[in-house]
Amino acid sequence: TFPALVLTEEEGKVRPSIRHLTDADLPAGDLTVRIEHSTLNYKDGMILNGLGRLVKSYPHIPGVDFAGTVEASDSPAFRPGDAVIVSGWRVGELYWGGYAGKARIRAEWAVPLPPGLTTRRAMAIGTAGLTAMLAVMALEEHGLGPDTDGEVLVTGAAGGVGSIAVLLLAKLGYRVAAATGRASQHDYLRGLGATTLIDRAEIATAPERPLLSERWAGAIDSVGGGTLAHILASLRSRAAVAACGNVAGVAFPGNVLPFLLRGISLLGIDSVSCPTPRRIRAWTRLAETLPLDRLDALTTEARLTDLPDLAAAILKGEVRGRVVIDPHR
Ligand code: NAP
Repeated sequence: TFPALVLTEEEGKVRPSIRHLTDADLPAGDLTVRIEHSTLNYKDGMILNGLGRLVKSYPHIPGVDFAGTVEASDSPAFRPGDAVIVSGWRVGELYWGGYAGKARIRAEWAVPLPPGLTTRRAMAIGTAGLTAMLAVMALEEHGLGPDTDGEVLVTGAAGGVGSIAVLLLAKLGYRVAAATGRASQHDYLRGLGATTLIDRAEIATAPERPLLSERWAGAIDSVGGGTLAHILASLRSRAAVAACGNVAGVAFPGNVLPFLLRGISLLGIDSVSCPTPRRIRAWTRLAETLPLDRLDALTTEARLTDLPDLAAAILKGEVRGRVVIDPHR
């Protein structure tokens, strides 16, 4: 048997419990993986709290990403013993996910663990880090480089996407401004490589004027809402913001003048259905770029039984950096 965190629904309320399952309990699929590590993302927090109608049927095993070793494969792409990363494709939402000792999935959802990463570090990066890398790639493809004038802004900086974005950008040679609501995390963010710290309240609402002075060479935004509108009005001419998240809301009160008068761009980041070749490129670059000691320093470890409390904490914006889950502990 293997342990699993199983969600059931009663009278519209979602309840977690730890159960012991066997292979026969797993759904159909051509790849069976022994999970070594999973992690906690904002979306997991929503799912564990029954929010966002992300899960369509119960009982359900959440966990939108995991890494482990292939135990059985009916796919030519993988053999038993291969180390794999699984994220996105609505794993942990429509399909059973990573908060268990094993998973059975479609092989097309898995990518090989890149050289240089352990399964634990892959989950320290997780969907949050993959998203940060996809955002960096989108900004680079739009023309941003370390020599571009000005700083790159990261919002929600002490969170998961934000922490990895700050670390990546700093390592790649960008000057990084980190916006956080937690002054207690300023030293942490400086340690990741941020050179300017901004109180998130300063950029939380749409400005009264359609344009602000030009400030950011680029931006990676986990926050959405008024913050995204504020960023659009303060990007430098021809710069872009990568929109990753919506912790402050899905609607944003913007105006079109920054697009028309400054030629700025709004780039959407979707890690869930990112095509596999781009996903593999992003994981390879993460493995090559991230300083592992710093990655380890922003990671904490937890167990399946800790997840209900952690889920409540991440929705309140109280989790710092990344949390790795060992389902066997
Ligand atoms: P997280 O660890 O909770 O990080 C979010 C951070 O945002 C918090 O740590 C906090 O940072 C800040 N924050 C929280 N509530 C806020 C509020 N009301 N107003 C302004 N800032 C607030 O979550 P995550 O896993 O990094 O995910 C971040 C966002 O990205 C979520 O919306 C998630 O759904 C999205 N996401 C999208 C994709 C994609 O494919 N597009 C993939 C992964 C995640 P500070 O304390 O530093 O301010």
